[in-house]
Amino acid sequence: MRIVLLGAPGSGKGTQAENIVARYGITHVSTGDLLRAEVAAGTELGKKAKAIMDAGGLVSDEIVLGMIEERMNKGLSAGFLLDGFPRTLAQAEALDAMLAKLEKPLDCTLFFDVDFDEITKRLLSRGRADDNEDTIRKRLAVYEEQTAPLISYYEGTGKLKTVKGVGSVDEISQRIFDVLDAHR
Ligand code: ADP
Repeated sequence: MRIVLLGAPGSGKGTQAENIVARYGITHVSTGDLLRAEVAAGTELGKKAKAIMDAGGLVSDEIVLGMIEERMNKGLSAGFLLDGFPRTLAQAEALDAMLAKLEKPLDCTLFFDVDFDEITKRLLSRGRADDNEDTIRKRLAVYEEQTAPLISYYEGTGKLKTVKGVGSVDEISQRIFDVLDAHR
């Protein structure tokens, strides 16, 4: 199974990603986690990415696509869940081209529908280094401008499934499983 998770920062992608990969035995690929690992390891890439992440901006498509390509080449045989990627139209198009070449098209894009007031509340209580009020505002603006257009992009492919991302973690997981079980 090959899945993309789409949603604003704080929409619950990371939390639900853990439950999804456990149930379906697929690999979790989070570009946020990959980037934080580069930062922690102090690599050149990490140094470039850190300032951008701390300011709430998007790391360049080139860097992110390079990371994804490298991860794909390591093999993702049973399937994968992409979390935090694609985040721009250029990333989505590059992903489609990459997967077409591998003859492994996406099965489904899950969009987590949560309103911005709820998201801001959640991010403020999460307390990660990039979760202060200014950065949150910036990340949500970037999301609106660069990532939200992917909703209609995936709608156009007929692969978009919207899941209401409000409720308990278990309730939301169940909604997701209902959608994904139909794709097995
Ligand atoms: P969140 O779920 O709060 O959006 P992530 O862990 O997905 O957090 O990402 C943290 C930061 O890493 C983003 O704010 C951005 O700077 C960078 N990042 C992650 N994924 C991408 C991507 N696909 N393209 C560009 N930047 C990214």
